[in-house]
Amino acid sequence: MNLRLKLLLIFITASLAAFTFFGFIAYDTAQSANLKNELDLLASVAPSIADAIGDDLEKKQKWNPVLEGADGISTDHRLYLFVADQHGAVISAPDLPELRQVFEQLHTTPDTRTGSLSHNASLYLWARAEVPKTNYQAVLISPSRGSAAYTFFREMGVSLIVTAMIVLWFASWGAMYVANLFEKVDEQKNILRHRALHDELTSLPNRALLNDRLQQIITSAERESASFALCFIDLNRFKEVNDTLGHHCGDELLLEVSRRLQNNLRKSDTVARIGGDEFALVLCRVDLAEAKVIAEKLMQCVELPVEIHGHKLHVTGSLGIALFPDHGADVETLLQKADVAMYAAKRSGTQIETYRHEFEVFSRDKLALTNDLHDAIHNNQLELYYQPKYHLATKTVVGAEALLRWKHPSVGYIPPATFVQIAEHTGLIRSLTKWVLQQAFCDYAHIAKHAQPLNMAINLSAHNLQDPDLEAELAALLEQWKVCAQHITLELTESAVVFNPAQTKQLLTRLTTRGFRISVDDFGTGYSTLTNLRRLPISEIKIDRSFVDNMVRDPGDASIVRATIGLGKALGLDVVAEGVETQEVLDALQAAGCETIQGYFIGKPMPLATFLVWRDTFNNKISEQHSQRA
Ligand code: C2E
Ligand code: CA
Ligand code: CA
Repeated sequence: MNLRLKLLLIFITASLAAFTFFGFIAYDTAQSANLKNELDLLASVAPSIADAIGDDLEKKQKWNPVLEGADGISTDHRLYLFVADQHGAVISAPDLPELRQVFEQLHTTPDTRTGSLSHNASLYLWARAEVPKTNYQAVLISPSRGSAAYTFFREMGVSLIVTAMIVLWFASWGAMYVANLFEKVDEQKNILRHRALHDELTSLPNRALLNDRLQQIITSAERESASFALCFIDLNRFKEVNDTLGHHCGDELLLEVSRRLQNNLRKSDTVARIGGDEFALVLCRVDLAEAKVIAEKLMQCVELPVEIHGHKLHVTGSLGIALFPDHGADVETLLQKADVAMYAAKRSGTQIETYRHEFEVFSRDKLALTNDLHDAIHNNQLELYYQPKYHLATKTVVGAEALLRWKHPSVGYIPPATFVQIAEHTGLIRSLTKWVLQQAFCDYAHIAKHAQPLNMAINLSAHNLQDPDLEAELAALLEQWKVCAQHITLELTESAVVFNPAQTKQLLTRLTTRGFRISVDDFGTGYSTLTNLRRLPISEIKIDRSFVDNMVRDPGDASIVRATIGLGKALGLDVVAEGVETQEVLDALQAAGCETIQGYFIGKPMPLATFLVWRDTFNNKISEQHSQRA
């Protein structure tokens, strides 16, 4: 039953109930008034009848005990007359036993002049008057004309019907009015609810509703052991449309894209707009292969030219797919994975990508960091710190490794391992390395000019080996800063060196020909063997910190370190142990024949100026120890 009908029934029932209640009161009042009128009438005619009887009594005439049409009495009003003495001895009475019984009852209240009484469920009215100059009384008894209904309805019938109609009309009108009010409030509520859960421009579900739906879909997918896909779509260069053609065109474009997405999906799927130019799709009951096919079809539709206000626009988009339950089993994880996949597609320009763990570097946070890193390179927020390399036999600082530091204006220090990886994935590594090389050469020139020269180690990324300009850049730096290449060591990780060995060998050979030293960093963590490396023009290996740190606790690691030192020496390579933190480790390394060490035990990475002061102090301390021993 709808609200209007319900309210109508309630209102009509309520008003009929009220109408009946007040009608009943009116009826009751009318009845009482009627009774009173009848009694008054009886009381008023009783003396005149008694007077009339008085004469008859004297003449000893008989009188009619049933009076009809007495003065003031209507013809339909039956009136019975009893004439009795004060003791109740009746000398004239109608021949009706019923009335006789009523009369008997009256005898008990001789002083009352008028009244009513019930007998055998009928109401009787009576009045008495003294017959003048006799000991007799005339008692008039009249059966009440029953209910006042007749009079009531005769008098009030029309008004009642009119009132009932008016009441009904008001009730219906009131019901409609209230129903309207309710409907308006409901409508308002619905609008607000819709607004809270939908995007205003496209009317598509927003992020809140998407989360809700995802939760429901996950629950049913779990129950049915089914898979589904969540896709994120981001339009490429949408901002340009907004900026050049105006927001109006941008809005039209978004509307068109949302229409295309909706038209090309099944009813059971969901399209949501979750940001400016970002849409999310939930493809129910699909596996990865099906999701990819649908994704491709959708992207083809989205990328068809759009004509807006005479402008033909070619939109492209990036789509990321995350599959339930393979990539995430809860809403938050799925959303994050789809986002990461979408950014990977955007970054790599592949248009569609399915989530892979390696894509994590494409996450939003990291991308924000990419922009900041780009600024950092150009705004001098980076700095090179130097960590000493210490020669155990001669007890001298023989070199320093340049290590990048980035103090992010709002985040603070960010570890190089984090931002170097971002730079590698986003192509920023070239400009980052360019900055490092420039700064390191400049610092080297400064040291060479003002202090005792040393060997400087600079870290290169595997990606730098693919850079065709690297060699020329290094050559230009040697030239610019008048540096001898023998004083520069280029550190490359073991995995970088063994990747693409033929090409790497050529490049490294050319670099060593120019005089650069090549060091294999993090040695032991990759999959190379020393024999493998022997084919490459390498001058140094750096045993990874993980083995060095563990060698005093783990005999296995100690043997690896000792074997590496032995083999390195046998191949004519310098061996550096990194991550030396204690005297104990230093002693163990010395006993194993290691020549050069690096680690917090000797010195932490420090800014250039600090490093130079530190080196002077350190050297002085050592020579003091020498002279004391001498
Ligand atoms: P890495 O080349 O192996 O550098 C050595 C790392 O070990 C440095 O970390 C250094 O601070 C740390 N370290 C040195 N001695 C100790 C020690 O005794 N104990 C401990 N716990 N750590 C020690 P950092 O500076 O955080 O650099 C991490 C990595 O970032 C470097 O590893 C390198 O792969 C990369 N990196 C740093 N600067 C550059 C750069 O200019 N270019 C490139 N491509 N990569 C860089
Ligand atoms: Ca290094
Ligand atoms: Ca290392």
